[in-house]
Amino acid sequence: MRQKAGTMHFDLLLHDCRLPDGTLADLGCRDGRVVAVGDLAGQPAERTLRCEGRVVTPGLVESHIHLDKALLSDRTPSAEGTLQEAIRITGGAKRRFTVEDIRVRARTVLDMAVRHGTTAMRSHVEVDPIVELRGLEALLPLKAEYAPALDLQLCAFAQEGVFRMPGTEQLLGEALRRGADLIGGCPYTDADGHAQIDVIFRLARDFGADADFHVDFFDEPEHLHLRYIIEQTTRWGWQGRVAVGHCTELGALPPTDLAPIAAGLKEAGIGVITLPATDLYLMGRKDTHRIRRGLAPVKRLRDAGVNVVAATNNVRNAFTPVGNANLLLMGFLLTVGAHMGTDRERREVLDMLTVDPARLLRLPACGPAPGLQADLVVWDATRLDDLVAGQAAPWVVVKRGRVTVEHERTAREPWRLASAN
Ligand SMILES: [Zn+2]
Repeated sequence: MRQKAGTMHFDLLLHDCRLPDGTLADLGCRDGRVVAVGDLAGQPAERTLRCEGRVVTPGLVESHIHLDKALLSDRTPSAEGTLQEAIRITGGAKRRFTVEDIRVRARTVLDMAVRHGTTAMRSHVEVDPIVELRGLEALLPLKAEYAPALDLQLCAFAQEGVFRMPGTEQLLGEALRRGADLIGGCPYTDADGHAQIDVIFRLARDFGADADFHVDFFDEPEHLHLRYIIEQTTRWGWQGRVAVGHCTELGALPPTDLAPIAAGLKEAGIGVITLPATDLYLMGRKDTHRIRRGLAPVKRLRDAGVNVVAATNNVRNAFTPVGNANLLLMGFLLTVGAHMGTDRERREVLDMLTVDPARLLRLPACGPAPGLQADLVVWDATRLDDLVAGQAAPWVVVKRGRVTVEHERTAREPWRLASAN
């Protein structure tokens, strides 16, 4: 039943949308927020869009991507397809990165993401003696440039390790001083992973920054650095401020061994980011038969109350040779790769691309409900299930109540005319 709302002048009025709960309503946005939901027909607005029953959802949130090393496939031909090779040959390509080169590739990926309905993003940016601060220098101005369409967080990331590459720690500090939003570690690249985790937490505390680790990214549970990260998160009082990506080693644990780690992650408020394109591509490479999927145990962790979200990670480089920064595609991979096909699970997959990563990035709540920030996507689909299952396309993308992208699609089908003649 539609309710008649009071008269108000809106910046944007989305008429006749299908809300995520299945009801039809009009959405009124003003000053960056959704301020009215109900029957708003005929109310004054700067702009009114007739959505004709199209589905509206919160904007997509990309919680883990690498803008600085995207679109390198033509420079980094991969032969083995292993993680070690990807790090090695991408490290080689990185020596030749210039600020302009990084910026051009990053803009290409940002444009793709915005057109696909992404309204917020966390990108890692490598900081080490190889590339020094060129990645940060390239990406920092893009925060302001893309602000009307997308909130961009930059994570100063020690891909090469901290002790293996002396000088990295000082550069990470410098990156945080110059405007990186948070700090990222990769403990499996140092001989002493715990010592690296200590350095990252010390920098996080010194700069009051959140931390985000690439962690336990192997087939077998040979590191389980997560246990130490959980301990340190609590010790430093950084609960709710730590994220961890990959965590594929957890997939090899029997339930009894996973349970205490899952409980620790939940207790410490650590968000887990599964990266299905990369993890499905790089894991299981040594398996000669019964080749494993190599994903974090998404369902078991979510059942334990952990905030598990899905993200893109790499776009067309040695870590992931395919990609177009379309998060719905990650939802598709997750559905089949992590066995998330029931009605409830398919809804969860959509949450893992929208509201759950927004919480992980500690962004203001957004979506089609009164009082929330008006970061929205109106889809070219009339059923919520069409989004991931049918890989629907966005129709209109909205950031803080302003239309940022409008898609027009037409398909002519001359074959029909030919067969009629
Ligand atoms: Zn990554």
